[in-house]
Amino acid sequence: AASLEPKLQDYVPGEVLVKLKAGTSLQAISGFAADYGAKVIHKFNVPAVMAKEFNGELVQLTLPEGMSTAEAVAAMGRDARVSYAEPNFKVQAFGNPGVQIPDDLVEEQWGLRNTGQNGGIAGVDIKAADAWNISTGIKENGPIIAVIDTGVNYNHSDLVNNMWVNPGEVPGDGIDNDGNGIVDDIHGANTITNTGDPLDDHNHGSHCAGVIGAEAGNGGMAGINWNAQIMGLKFLGEGGGGTTADAVKAVLYASEKGARIVNNSWGGGQFSQACLDAMAASPSLHICAAGNDGYDNDTRPSYPANFKLDNIIAVAAHNNKDELAGFSNRGNKSVHLAAPGVNIHSTLKDGGYGLMSGTSMATPHVTGVAGLIASAYPDADNDAIKSRILSGVDQMPERYAKRLMTGGRLNAIKALEDDKVAPATPGNLSASATTRAVTLTWTATGDDGMRGKATRYELRYARSPIAANSDSPKPGEISFDEATAVRIDAPKDAGANESVTLEMTPSGRERKLYFALRVVDNVGNRSETAVQEVRVPASKVAFEDTVDASSPFTPS
Ligand code: CA
Ligand code: CA
Repeated sequence: AASLEPKLQDYVPGEVLVKLKAGTSLQAISGFAADYGAKVIHKFNVPAVMAKEFNGELVQLTLPEGMSTAEAVAAMGRDARVSYAEPNFKVQAFGNPGVQIPDDLVEEQWGLRNTGQNGGIAGVDIKAADAWNISTGIKENGPIIAVIDTGVNYNHSDLVNNMWVNPGEVPGDGIDNDGNGIVDDIHGANTITNTGDPLDDHNHGSHCAGVIGAEAGNGGMAGINWNAQIMGLKFLGEGGGGTTADAVKAVLYASEKGARIVNNSWGGGQFSQACLDAMAASPSLHICAAGNDGYDNDTRPSYPANFKLDNIIAVAAHNNKDELAGFSNRGNKSVHLAAPGVNIHSTLKDGGYGLMSGTSMATPHVTGVAGLIASAYPDADNDAIKSRILSGVDQMPERYAKRLMTGGRLNAIKALEDDKVAPATPGNLSASATTRAVTLTWTATGDDGMRGKATRYELRYARSPIAANSDSPKPGEISFDEATAVRIDAPKDAGANESVTLEMTPSGRERKLYFALRVVDNVGNRSETAVQEVRVPASKVAFEDTVDASSPFTPS
């Protein structure tokens, strides 16, 4: 991607986003801008919950006449006060703007229940009817679901009762009651105009919102969540385009206001460090559309879907015949799963309903199911929700499966599985060492105790003992969370022999290393912690005594 030079129309001329070192004062920011003849048009309000991880002050600048974006990015990028400088890229909605109004409203919702109508294959759906036996979503104190898009028609009869209401704001008093810089932001915000009105002037965002949470039992259509709290964040204009600056504002707003899940049915080919930083520091789970170019995202990345972050799920689109849509981007290493995204029926800006196609429409199916999971299992963290969704897919036919990381498409009932049985603890964990490697062996346990196949391992190491019981650490022990994580392969079937060898830099001094291993199942249940220590002998060869501070292991 680095070889693709941004074209002029790919970014906003005369604007840049600059991240200055954390703690840079407003005065110093103004001074920095003045040094380049630039003006600060926005200082991003990074919420406290994200500040440590975000680690910097992000500003949007307008450049003086005669200074090109390329010149500014190059010069500012060399400035010692700057972490990075980048153009304000343009991104766009991943939807087909063509809208058809169907005669029959409910039958068109094949993505939720496909009985073979309209030439589809029966059963190629997300099993919503089964999932509704476990959860239909929660409004009061339920998960807040943000839709970062063209806005949401919060007046639509199927959305009006399922909109999030900002508890800190008094409607219509013209005062910024909650002090977040936006006046009367009742159902979300418009980050283009920095106002409190996210009303949709396009259709795309309203369409996404209806799939996630159109009210059920009131006529019209049923969303995946019958009850929901939908936060509308408008950063795409009426033409469906927007900028990373306004996207970042929306991510910060959603994070500050406690959005549990964020729907991102938009993107572009340009990598934005600011957008990556915002999503990386966001406590929300971000569901992202893969894009509609028919590309392989492994080789032609689309952002934000391609950001390598644990709190992102990238979504492709499939049709009612169990085929990936021709327009859908895919990627064996970059797109997690597919969801219904062709001829999807949902709510529109004019109060009616219509069909749209795109990975944009697939994404809110995943977001909706994430909302059901967060409603049914309020303690599920991002890893657990993601793991439920990815572990629960139905495999697609081979020619499509090989183009997706999980090989499958969304299944809501499997993702909502009520599994209270944790994997057994690998009690026979043992460790041996040479001067240049540590080998750990144990017997694989299962998804439920010693039955089935668990989903992943959590392996950590430290230079001091790691507590087997984090609730009651002994003197001198550090917690599991404080130890350093090592990524290893997924578990084998229960009872199989597991072996992992970690290479390390030889040292002239004997060292002692401590390991801790947990087994995690598909819904996030964890085994107890198995701990083991090992003495790494000193190298007899005259190696330099490299006292490797934090990471003795060679990345592989
Ligand atoms: Ca406000
Ligand atoms: Ca309805």
